[in-house]
Amino acid sequence: MSRYFSDSKESTSYRRKRIKNTKRMRRCAKFPCPNSNCRKVFELKSKLLKHLYYCTQKPRFECPYCDYISKCKANVMRHIPGKHKNRKVYVIDIVRNVRC
Ligand SMILES: [Zn+2]
Ligand SMILES: [Zn+2]
Repeated sequence: MSRYFSDSKESTSYRRKRIKNTKRMRRCAKFPCPNSNCRKVFELKSKLLKHLYYCTQKPRFECPYCDYISKCKANVMRHIPGKHKNRKVYVIDIVRNVRC
């Protein structure tokens, strides 16, 4: 009788251990960015997806006065008054090959 009791106790603790491990694994699961030149890792998949939207874009907005290029048009608009004073502020979209 006492032997049966100890056996059942052991199996309960074993099961509990397994649950703990699964939980820890899930907490450690990270979502790395699949982009090879980006090393960002996210805790949540939703954050990775949000990041990917920006990360997978190639820089396409170029400064007409130098080699500056950015993924974001606003960055180039900000760059021109700082680096090229008294120049007309416009951005070259190299994908569509237009001024914008
Ligand atoms: Zn990335
Ligand atoms: Zn520039």
